[in-house]
Amino acid sequence: MNRFDYLRPATVAEAVAAAAVPGSAYLAAGTNLLDLMKGGVVHPARLVDVSRLPELGGIEATADGGLRIGARVRNAELARDASFRRRFPAVAEALLSGASAQLRNAATVGGNLLQRTRCAYFYDPASACNKRDPGAGCDARGGENRLHAVLGWSESCIATHPSDFCVPLVALDAVVEIEGPAGRRELPLDALHRLPGDAPERDTVLAPGELVVAIRLPPEAAGFAAHARYVKLRERTSYAFAVVSAAACLRVENGAIAEARVALGGVAAKPWRARAAEAVLAGARPDAAAFRRAAEAALAEAQPSGENGFKIELARRIVARALALAAAGTPERLPALPASPLAPPPGGSIHV
Ligand code: SF4
Repeated sequence: MNRFDYLRPATVAEAVAAAAVPGSAYLAAGTNLLDLMKGGVVHPARLVDVSRLPELGGIEATADGGLRIGARVRNAELARDASFRRRFPAVAEALLSGASAQLRNAATVGGNLLQRTRCAYFYDPASACNKRDPGAGCDARGGENRLHAVLGWSESCIATHPSDFCVPLVALDAVVEIEGPAGRRELPLDALHRLPGDAPERDTVLAPGELVVAIRLPPEAAGFAAHARYVKLRERTSYAFAVVSAAACLRVENGAIAEARVALGGVAAKPWRARAAEAVLAGARPDAAAFRRAAEAALAEAQPSGENGFKIELARRIVARALALAAAGTPERLPALPASPLAPPPGGSIHV
């Protein structure tokens, strides 16, 4: 039995002060953290419960026409928000493809950003894992690694980030608002997660005691609503993490791609923005040849980290497929299997 303190502060300022004690962890829904504690993977000395803080709630339009989402908003609550779905359909599709209905009802958007890798060796305290125990080694390198990273990995760690939600958010230049002992700051979401390098124990650039308070989508992100999809390949059609996934968002003008946003999931320790693919697509006609060139560019730096070379070609195909679906137009209704490449596109387009 691990003993820990449990505190339920009334404000963000109180929460940040409470979490200044070394060994503290913020608790929201706990859909990942409590599993890690029960499994003996993490041992926080103090849990600071932020799940009821009024300041972390709300889905609000910003003065500039963007959207601000409080960190304790539940995944399902956000995905059900009609205005959000209409303006940011690829993000809604990603949210609804994650986990199970029960988990989406509980899990918060802030927690989604900060969930840990699903590498099985990380969850097994009997295995060597540099992320859990720096310097211990990495049993995944010579073990079961077919689902591990093909981009941005290091000799220290080949784990992937498991979030679906983060993938279109990174593509759409989402911003993360952070409150901490040194005050408030904000970061592009693309700068929040770290590649492993020689310090895989640090998933993000958050300093000790810093709390994610909100996520913002800029107004420009809604400009992709007519052609925005998220496609997720998984080993079963629900309640599974991505083998590979892709968000594709296009602005199409006069039959050509005026601007493209592309990001991948399941390939690296962070949601992977594919700017080289976006450059290939800018100004191109939205056809299969352009999508294949973009997919090649997106995976140009990819390298197997074990027995996972198949993921590179799979990721190329998922990028090309996501682009083709996005070019065809955002469907009026989400498919019955959100983000599944096996789901036929439902009839009708949300924006013709
Ligand atoms: Fe740990 Fe990373 Fe190796 Fe998995 S891949 S065992 S998380 S160091």
